[in-house]
Order: sequence, then C-alpha cells, then structure tokens
Amino acid sequence: MSNLPVETTLAWLADYAKVVTDNSAMLTDLDRQIGDADHGSNMTRGMSAVAALDPQSFADTGALLKKAGMTLVSTVGGASGPLYGTLFLRLGAFLGPDKELSVQNLAQAFKADLDGIMTRGKAEPGDKTMVDALAPAVEALQTDAEAGRTLQEALDHAAQAAAQGRDATVGMIARRGRASYLGERSKGHQDPGATSLALFIESAARCLPVQV
Ligand code: ADP
Ligand code: MG
Repeated sequence: MSNLPVETTLAWLADYAKVVTDNSAMLTDLDRQIGDADHGSNMTRGMSAVAALDPQSFADTGALLKKAGMTLVSTVGGASGPLYGTLFLRLGAFLGPDKELSVQNLAQAFKADLDGIMTRGKAEPGDKTMVDALAPAVEALQTDAEAGRTLQEALDHAAQAAAQGRDATVGMIARRGRASYLGERSKGHQDPGATSLALFIESAARCLPVQV
C-alpha cells in the first residue's frame, strides 16, 4: 500500500469542484428552503479557487490539502467555509507524506475531520448539519478497517452511509446554523451541508482507490 500521491489528491479535488459546480443549483435550492440560498454558490466559489491552485507548487498531499483548506476559509463566507476548511486542513494533517493510504489511516483522518467540525461548529449528530452525513461515513470506515476491507469497499460503504445520513436529515429539526432559526419548520427539508458532504465522500470513493 502506497502513500496518497499528490496527483490523486489533485484529481480528487478537481472531481469535487466539478461535482459541486454541477450540483450548485440543487444545493442552493435546498438552502433556499431552510437557509439563505447560497450553499451552491459558496461551495462552487470555494472549490473553483481550490481547483485553480498551481498543481506544481505542492511537494506532497499534506501541503496541498492544507492549502485547499486555507483557500476555502478565505474564499467562502458563511458557516460552510470554515467548516469545510477544517475538514481539508485535518485531512492534510492525517494524510501527509509519511502516511500510507490504508482504510485504517483514512478512518482516522475522517474521524479527525468529524471531531474538528464538531468542535468548531458545536453540532452533535441529529442537529441536521453536515455532521449527520460525516458521522455515519466515519463509522463505516472504522468498521471496515477492523474487518480488513479494501479501500474501494470501505469508501463505497462510507459513501452509502453518508447518503443515508443525508437522507435522515429530512426528518430532523435543525439545532445549528441558519436553519435552526426555523425550529420545527426546518423539518421536512434535506440539509444542504449534509448533501454537499455526501457528495464529497462519493467523490473520494470515485477518486482515491485509483492509484496514479
Ligand atoms: P450559511 O449557513 O452561513 O449560509 P452555507 O449555506 O454555505 O452557509 O452552509 C450551510 C450548511 O452549513 C448547513 O446546511 C449545515 O450543514 C452546515 N452548518 C451550518 N452551521 C453548522 C454548524 N454549527 N456545525 C456543522 N455544520 C453547520
Ligand atoms: Mg446559506
């Protein structure tokens, strides 16, 4: 098992930038229902800036992911910028040059993301946020690391778990972020951040197991 090559990480970031751009209208529409109709444009602006980073200037995946995190924080206003920034910064710290791309290490990296996002945003599972997509994905990776599954199997499982978590946000009442202002009225709507987060795990399942 090798490390995560910078080319693979670049391909992953480019894939996710394309996915959020392609789904921008849908993400914004979800945010229109329980927020302020900017999640699609926020994510598209941030990930376009990440995709435009000079690929030559990164010696390794850790440095690239850290720069991606800082770029998201500086280009995305709103709650999602610092939260996604935290996600990329932590991934960078855990998937650095000396880390092999194993299910175990990926589980640890995404667990660090989950902890970082929960600390920063103070959301718990069930609060109808991106945490509700990320937490089940982390659980799937941890289970599959224990069971000795392949990277592809574990990431497919994580993507499926994130999608189920995203779907479960429909029935939740928002307790964090703008949607929480609506209280009971937030029920019946899918959380935009959980939706973009599930797309991120799907993108990982598509891009990471492909070694360059
Ligand atoms: P804003 O709410 O500032 O307009 P966005 O629309 O880009 O920012 O992002 C909204 C998403 O951010 C929500 O759908 C939710 O998933 C996520 N979010 C908001 N606040 C929090 C929080 N405190 N913890 C975790 N996620 C949050
Ligand atoms: Mg918004």
